[in-house]
Amino acid sequence: MTASITEQRAAVLAASSANSGSREVVLDVRNLKVYYSTPLGDVRAVDDVSFKVYQGEILGLVGESGCGKTTTAMAILRMVQPPGGIVGGEIMLDGIDLVPLGEAQLREVRWNTLALVPQGAMNSLNPVMRISAQIQEAIVTHEGKQDKRKLKERILNLFTLVGLPSRIYDMYPHELSGGMKQRVCIAMAIVLNPSLIIADEPTSALDVVVQRVVGQTLLDVKRRLGVSMILIGHDMGLQAQLVDRLAVMYAGHMVEVSPVATIFKEPLHPYTQLLIESIPSIKERKPLKLTEGLTHDLRNPPPGCIFQGRCPKVMDICKQVKPPLAEIKLDHQVACHLYD
Ligand code: SF4
Repeated sequence: MTASITEQRAAVLAASSANSGSREVVLDVRNLKVYYSTPLGDVRAVDDVSFKVYQGEILGLVGESGCGKTTTAMAILRMVQPPGGIVGGEIMLDGIDLVPLGEAQLREVRWNTLALVPQGAMNSLNPVMRISAQIQEAIVTHEGKQDKRKLKERILNLFTLVGLPSRIYDMYPHELSGGMKQRVCIAMAIVLNPSLIIADEPTSALDVVVQRVVGQTLLDVKRRLGVSMILIGHDMGLQAQLVDRLAVMYAGHMVEVSPVATIFKEPLHPYTQLLIESIPSIKERKPLKLTEGLTHDLRNPPPGCIFQGRCPKVMDICKQVKPPLAEIKLDHQVACHLYD
């Protein structure tokens, strides 16, 4: 009999913990390509992207709108909708490739192993179901019927973990503030103890004070449960406070990956340098710096470097040879000919 995904995952985890000693890789995305088919040609939204997420870390995925960060997340969740599709690469989660899995196997993986904290909490919660009923449904769907008292105790423990008061148990989503709703989504994401949580701009619709509370909740969850996360966003300040490593995307390509402190101290890719220079400072009043030019047409990428049209340091070789993402310092990868 074929082993279920949960059994396969348990076997892979047991084997990897027996061989542990180095950082354990939870997610290994290899040469991922996601294209959207259009009458005028394929839009290469994600083009040959590779990166890893390690056990217990938060990886920040940043870049301007349209750079492919959300498409990458949707591909990991296997939720890319037609006319889009994964046309190449592997998505290894706990040692199992998600790309060839069918719908039944994916249902087992989602929530159990992989969970999403969505951008708009209000849109993802069912407005006519009490908060407790929504969380119970997620548990019962994946684990089967449970003792009611134990179920309630488990949900109240979850509330404590994400800083929610027990009185919301019987409330409806519209009775909660934006920050509370987002913390309900975090509670739902961790309820089945997944290996990886993808948080897609979870604070984007919130004011700065609530953003901080939700950010702190994510940090608490990471510390207490040791869960790995991908935090998608374009707020570099928030990323600096929350993530362990930062991955920078541009026009469907990964251009730099590094520990967050290193990347803020010494950004190497010209695009990352411009992104960091564009962060406004309250200490020093200076004109806002903008990255001039436009991203090229994703249906027709130029030969060579993807950033050549906007790069202030462009050289002849950049127009002919595509720079690979290479580790040029310990744990610091960059795709740029300046470091050949
Ligand atoms: Fe700029 Fe060339 Fe580096 Fe691309 S490879 S980022 S064009 S210097």
